Amino acid sequence: MASDQPLQDVVIIGGGPAGSTAATLLSKKGLRVTLLEKEKFPRDHVGESLLPFCYKIFEELGLLSKMKTSFVRKPGVRFVDIDGQHGTSWCFNRVIHDESYLSFQVSRGEFDKLLLDNSRDNGAQVYEETRVQSVELQRPDGTVEVRAVGPNNEEMVLNARFLLDASGRNAFLATRNGWRKSLEGLDRTALWTHWHGATLQGGLEEGMSLIVYLGGEKKGWIWVFPLGKDWLTVGVVLENKYIREQKSLLSAQHEDWQQALYEQELLTSPFVEKLIAGAQPEPLLRVEGNYSYSMPKELKFGANYALVGDASTFIDPIFSSGIFLSMNGSRLVSEAIHQKLTNSNGSGDDPLVAAYGKINGAYNIVHNLIRLFYNPHSVTFAAASGVVGENHTKHEDAMAAGHYLLAGDFFDRHEEYMEFIEYLQSPSLFEKFKYTIIDRKEFHAETCGASPQEVFSSTLDEQKIEEVI
Ligand SMILES: Cc1cc2nc3c(=O)[nH]c(=O)nc-3n(C[C@H](O)[C@H](O)[C@H](O)COP(=O)(O)OP(=O)(O)OC[C@H]3O[C@@H](n4cnc5c(N)ncnc54)[C@H](O)[C@@H]3O)c2cc1C
Repeated sequence: MASDQPLQDVVIIGGGPAGSTAATLLSKKGLRVTLLEKEKFPRDHVGESLLPFCYKIFEELGLLSKMKTSFVRKPGVRFVDIDGQHGTSWCFNRVIHDESYLSFQVSRGEFDKLLLDNSRDNGAQVYEETRVQSVELQRPDGTVEVRAVGPNNEEMVLNARFLLDASGRNAFLATRNGWRKSLEGLDRTALWTHWHGATLQGGLEEGMSLIVYLGGEKKGWIWVFPLGKDWLTVGVVLENKYIREQKSLLSAQHEDWQQALYEQELLTSPFVEKLIAGAQPEPLLRVEGNYSYSMPKELKFGANYALVGDASTFIDPIFSSGIFLSMNGSRLVSEAIHQKLTNSNGSGDDPLVAAYGKINGAYNIVHNLIRLFYNPHSVTFAAASGVVGENHTKHEDAMAAGHYLLAGDFFDRHEEYMEFIEYLQSPSLFEKFKYTIIDRKEFHAETCGASPQEVFSSTLDEQKIEEVI
């Protein structure tokens, strides 16, 4: 169909969390929005553990009650060493005293569909199975032309005042224009799938995210998150150099070397072996490479376009930060686009400048936290247990900073947190932080004390909750 659609205010490429957040918020403000998504939803996607700071965005999108009735709740994250002997539990209720401390573990098929349907309900035109193929940003009248192909190979041509690229790790504009730059030292690949029939334990029975250190030359880790009463997502993240070495060893003996590598790495951890005992993996192993990239700051937005979510930057997912970074970044950019298109920014400055100031600051914080995690000279969050015996009351600020960062406080106070992260980068100061903060007894409990009823009530009836406990 060659389109005779009227001029759109905003065309959005991609209907993941970044694209659908923008589509909803811009439509709510009365702008004419069209979103083009190449897949038919629900579609599978990696990235299933959310941070508490997402909560306010769900409220703004009008989705909070649906979130509560749809997904497992997450009270905190537990970092554990490979054999499960040492671990630290970071419970969000230590610093967040309203109900938002209880975050969510989501099946992305369902979650992304909820968000996308919501943008349709709020007035956005949404076309699924419609792949954007080309974009012209330099038209003489300043508008953008977008060409896409729909489900029956029909062509669609749209004109818009503004283009929002939310195409995820495909990074539509950046890939076509050669803007993508790898982040040095963070080249990793993830292998993952879902497991069914697990008996939840080790903190999973109370909704916790588990991050297990593999350490050594693998520079990797394993995630285990509960998506239902006996349903887990389990992924292994490894440095590409190690994967290449293993490929040559394993492909000589196994038809599917990736599957063999996935199983091998899970079984190197006696702790993970226990967590998945008796459970069955889904046959399809998913692989996500192409890790950690960004675009030059000056190219992340222009006069008539902006990049949001993974289409703008992607950083290693160890802290489960991607969805919050994408949704909140998209929220800030939507606000700025609205001001720009309605000339409602009093100062006359481009409102996108301020929005990207916050967004770049947030990604920078997460980037530095991740480098800290992989720093072989600092003590890992998992191996931090030890002597308890100090009066720690003077250190509440440092403890709160750690928790707030893991909860997602990246945007508004990024400059203050940079000082904190720099402090932790020094091995001796990290030792001090460990001794005075992380060595506290409560950090070594397996759970955050959430009840299975509050964590699993969306997915379980009473009898099943009994079975989980
Ligand atoms: C291994 C791994 C683990 C992760 N774990 C977590 C986690 O636990 N928690 C967390 O918060 N984040 C996690 N993330 C990150 C998270 O998945 C992403 O940050 C998040 O999905 C980004 O949302 P988005 O909307 O920017 O992109 P996406 O969710 O990828 O959505 C982009 C959409 O654009 C569509 N699209 C692409 N190209 C086109 C085109 N040409 N035309 C039309 N449509 C197009 C795609 O089909 C897709 O639906 C993880 C990532 C990885 C790789």
